[in-house]
Amino acid sequence: MTTVTARDEDADINAPPGGWAQLRFSDSTCRSAATQIVCRPDRPSRLLSAMPAPEGRSLIARGSGQGLGDAALNDGGAVALTVRLDRMLSFDPDEHMLVAEAGVTIGDILRTFLPRRHMPAVYPGSLGATLGGAIAADAHGTNHMRAGSFGDHVIWLDLITPRGGLRRVSPQEEPALFAATIGGMGLTGLIARAAIRMAPITSTDVTLRRQAIGSLDMLLDQLTAGAQAHAYAAAWIDMRAPGTAQERGVLETADIASGGGRAWSPARHRSRPSGGLADMLLPPRLALRVRSERQYRRARHGRTSTMAIDRFLRQHGVAPASRLAQHGTVRLHCVLPRDGVAAAIRRLLDIARRAGGAAGAAVQAIGKDGRGMLSFARTGIALVLDLPISVVEANLMHRLERETLDRGGRVFLASDAHLTDHGFAAMYPRLAEFRAVLADIDPDMRLQSDLARRLRLRDYIV
Ligand SMILES: Cc1cc2nc3c(=O)[nH]c(=O)nc-3n(C[C@H](O)[C@H](O)[C@H](O)COP(=O)(O)OP(=O)(O)OC[C@H]3O[C@@H](n4cnc5c(N)ncnc54)[C@H](O)[C@@H]3O)c2cc1C
Repeated sequence: MTTVTARDEDADINAPPGGWAQLRFSDSTCRSAATQIVCRPDRPSRLLSAMPAPEGRSLIARGSGQGLGDAALNDGGAVALTVRLDRMLSFDPDEHMLVAEAGVTIGDILRTFLPRRHMPAVYPGSLGATLGGAIAADAHGTNHMRAGSFGDHVIWLDLITPRGGLRRVSPQEEPALFAATIGGMGLTGLIARAAIRMAPITSTDVTLRRQAIGSLDMLLDQLTAGAQAHAYAAAWIDMRAPGTAQERGVLETADIASGGGRAWSPARHRSRPSGGLADMLLPPRLALRVRSERQYRRARHGRTSTMAIDRFLRQHGVAPASRLAQHGTVRLHCVLPRDGVAAAIRRLLDIARRAGGAAGAAVQAIGKDGRGMLSFARTGIALVLDLPISVVEANLMHRLERETLDRGGRVFLASDAHLTDHGFAAMYPRLAEFRAVLADIDPDMRLQSDLARRLRLRDYIV
């Protein structure tokens, strides 16, 4: 049996075409793991034949496994891997419309379309995320104030439903099923293909401004103003600064560069190692301190630079600590209403600090509610808090959940492995509507995941 983490590598999976293999997956933090049978179809007709799964097992789709929780795990059940459904089928430059299979990654789309001066309207935080995964999570980027969520740019999708039929689903044709599928964490069906509206761009460069800000209140005020004035806005909070400087941070705002920019060239878009000498020579904690301090000082008088879009997307708004520690951390990813947001964030950071410290924290503005019944997005400020695995225990995550809930906030399902069913029900007001769609489309509960069972989305027999 094989264990596969994070971006699932083709070579590790021995499912024959059209067949099933037993496999053990873990999430990218290695906290949750599941043993299941998997298939890896290479065309939509083979995905169609995965439903229903053999031996009466339940089934869930899995894209690249970039979600940080257990939404794409199905312990004891079956998983349909979509990574080989990786064809882009058509592009209409006048309508800016791309039709692609669900396993195409955001990185593939960027590589193909940046030279054509188009990009996905929303970047879901990871180049490896698939089209199907970004739709099922209704992913959000740091341009939410202007662009909304990923689901806002979906024109239609082809869904393999639990009773086996392929249905074209759109806001016009099947509004309830569409709203349940956007952000529905794969529980309404397997997305085989989708049409999305891409964003035309004038340049493959962005102009990025970094500004150090000495207090959390000012940081949040300027983040909100920055998100209204610029295409992208996010800020990281320096969790490692000594004494009263603990809530200082760096605000990043960015816009697509004007005037055409330089010609796109693959060499310029290659990723560069981000670590400096300190990262190589110092113990990790000290290296992070040096790194955060250096970045804060550099941004003190405001700093403007121009860089390639894909490099920018990978780095933007991510705390220096999180850049290094991504796979050794557990994430709290929540959105909080704007009223009282500074106090709420201060409290969450305080709980994290008392438990042993957070690796990194970042914030971004969320402009409006998402289109899906289980969409994460609601007007407010989203906080990403990365906690070192060494300090994380269920009690800490439940305290953070309680605090988020008490402040009127909501946890992002795609990044979560700890939320309780009570917390979930209180945070997602359209849950009853979602359950009604599931009861109609999937009466036999053929689609299930570890997340769905943990949150008791339905009366599963476990
Ligand atoms: C470093 C990092 C940063 C991130 N930052 C952000 C961020 O800023 N904003 C954000 O929104 N997300 C963020 N994420 C989370 C991630 O980008 C999203 O969860 C994304 O949707 C994952 O895509 P995936 O293809 O890996 O999906 P998976 O993780 O494989 O699956 C996620 C969900 O989608 C469902 N799914 C996948 N494919 C299909 C399909 N074909 N049909 C039906 N359901 C399907 C799965 O069942 C599961 O419920 C981040 C992740 C990482 C690792």
